[in-house]
Amino acid sequence: MCGIVAVIGSREAAPLLLEGLRQLEYRGYDSAGIATVNGERQLSCLRAEGKLVNLTQRFEAQGAVGQCGIGHTRWATHGKPEERNAHPHLDGPGRVAVVQNGIIENYRTLREELQAEGVVFCSETDTEVIPHLLSRELGRLVAAGGKPSGALLLEAVQAVLPRLHGAYALAVVWAELPGALVVARKAAPLLIGLGEGEFLCASDTPALAGFTRTILRWKTAKWHCSPPGDRALRRSW
Ligand code: GLU
Repeated sequence: MCGIVAVIGSREAAPLLLEGLRQLEYRGYDSAGIATVNGERQLSCLRAEGKLVNLTQRFEAQGAVGQCGIGHTRWATHGKPEERNAHPHLDGPGRVAVVQNGIIENYRTLREELQAEGVVFCSETDTEVIPHLLSRELGRLVAAGGKPSGALLLEAVQAVLPRLHGAYALAVVWAELPGALVVARKAAPLLIGLGEGEFLCASDTPALAGFTRTILRWKTAKWHCSPPGDRALRRSW
């Protein structure tokens, strides 16, 4: 079973993500990755096959800047345990990054639908359909006059979720919006931690324990947090 960690706040995200992933190592994994978004709307994505130490070395060599980010340890279900199948997965322009824990059962149908529209896939995973679907939805919303905002990203995620069949937890960042992180879950674990000036998310408590004791366990509701300006954690549907 893989692990998800996500954070948004005022500290650099990458070291927090790596520490959180370290706390989830006990769950087993074959590869790992992180994506961060900085204030200049740059998205950095680092992935590595094998142990977390490989990802850490990559981070030390290349860096990943930003106070908002998502991280993942993968236990492959669709696609070999190789770097190109490691999460996060990106949309075509590399502006949307997604980590997912679980299985998207109807990914073949979605993949064919997107390929028919010219989308090129870089991995064999079920997960990669999600950033492409989100990219398409965000494109539609922006073309209709929507301005990048936490609400817009949430609207895009809400539009895409009903298309995903299966049990999953996921976390999304969008390079256009360094201050937003959207998470969702359906029949898979994902906890929210309220830290000092930061929100955290993780598949299990050990990844949050070093940062906060305030942990929300949500069963049927979904939540989102969309700072800055709006640092409230809101139940959305
Ligand atoms: N099904 C996804 C994959 O194979 C996620 C697996 C997991 O939960 O680690 O990439």
